[in-house]
Amino acid sequence: MDLSPNKQPNFDNTEIAFRQKTNGELKKTFWLFKMIGSNFLTKVGPAITNFFLNVGLPIQGAIKATIFQQFCGGETILECDKAIVQLAKGNVGTILDYSVEGEEEEIVFDETCQEIIRTILRADGDINIPITVFKITGIGRFALLEKLDAKQTLTANEQAEFDKVKLRCEMICRTAFEKAVPIMIDAEETWIQNTIDDLALDMMSKFNKERIIVYNTYQMYRHDKLADMKADHLIAKAAGFILGVKMVRGAYMEKERKRAAEMGYPSPIQKDKESSDKDYNESLRYCVDHIEEIAIVCGTHNEESSRLLTYLLDEKKVAHNHPHVYFAQLLGMSDNLSFNLADANYNVAKYVPYGPIKAVMPYLFRRAQENTSVAGQTGRELGLIERELKRRKV
Ligand SMILES: Cc1cc2nc3c(=O)[nH]c(=O)nc-3n(C[C@H](O)[C@H](O)[C@H](O)COP(=O)(O)OP(=O)(O)OC[C@H]3O[C@@H](n4cnc5c(N)ncnc54)[C@H](O)[C@@H]3O)c2cc1C
Repeated sequence: MDLSPNKQPNFDNTEIAFRQKTNGELKKTFWLFKMIGSNFLTKVGPAITNFFLNVGLPIQGAIKATIFQQFCGGETILECDKAIVQLAKGNVGTILDYSVEGEEEEIVFDETCQEIIRTILRADGDINIPITVFKITGIGRFALLEKLDAKQTLTANEQAEFDKVKLRCEMICRTAFEKAVPIMIDAEETWIQNTIDDLALDMMSKFNKERIIVYNTYQMYRHDKLADMKADHLIAKAAGFILGVKMVRGAYMEKERKRAAEMGYPSPIQKDKESSDKDYNESLRYCVDHIEEIAIVCGTHNEESSRLLTYLLDEKKVAHNHPHVYFAQLLGMSDNLSFNLADANYNVAKYVPYGPIKAVMPYLFRRAQENTSVAGQTGRELGLIERELKRRKV
């Protein structure tokens, strides 16, 4: 066993990647990815599943035992304990992600705010939950954020409604600050993102003075985000706070392009995948060059970007477990990255989404859709599991 602090991860090591899975669990995951990989299932699946759930047919058990179990920790924080312990065995942390989406009522926003605060309290003092996360659309109405983003004048009622969104955001970040539990704010659609960015920058300026607490998310599939991230760094430097950067490529590409085409404005998305990759990797370089002023969470399943960050850290002689550097993946995906990085002493955490089954279905459909391409993620996952099953001779 190599115990040197600068050990390099080997992403092909399936023994380390799947150490915490029994033969039975591994076979089940294999068949699940096979099923997801069939385009038919993911195309008609959402419509059929929503119909069954809406008319009250008892399919929740089947969902819970399959796709839900693969990508979610449970329906409550307590139910996530099993996933937290399992990840911790491989030195991988948990990011509890309350994944209820699409709600529009004030009472639900208040409840979601309280639930996010409960995730921070659960993380308090537990080294296995190093970071927490939330979405602004979980605590505020989408159409209201959209109106603000478009710089339209709010009515008095709408202004009061937005004041409540700010209050909820502040309550969450203040709790994170008081408990010294870092929190990330997810990035969403471009037509609400300016509002999210303004809130995030405000929270960072309040709570990141001494140590990293709040991270904003930068989507590098947008052609303007590398420049935005650099500009935010200069603002943070001048104002004397640490910039928190969760870096992702971006999850809403099709939706963004479709809206831009329909409404006749230039697409905010890069012209091709190579341009997204280039900006993503360039941002990694920039952040590592300013590692004392920027804290980074590298949210990706891309092997090349993950490897690049390991090289950059070594090049600059930054410790693998520097508190300003985290690698992050989603539960149920790319265990070969998560567990091999953790084995090489890097800080790693996985999103563990949770919530009532019906409410997390949009999240699960996104994961299923992302995994349909046998040439892409599914092919990678299947190939790795197959290799591990062969290695175990089962
Ligand atoms: C821990 C974590 C947190 C995340 N948080 C968020 C978040 O807050 N907000 C969010 O939007 N997403 C988030 N994501 C999802 C993320 O944005 C990506 O959709 C997903 O991770 C796939 O990108 P990749 O870097 O893993 O891998 P890759 O497979 O290398 O890249 C796929 C991505 O590249 C981009 N891309 C693909 N084709 C093209 C093209 N033709 N032109 C331009 N770009 C292209 C798209 O963004 C696509 O998702 C998160 C992901 C992780 C792992």
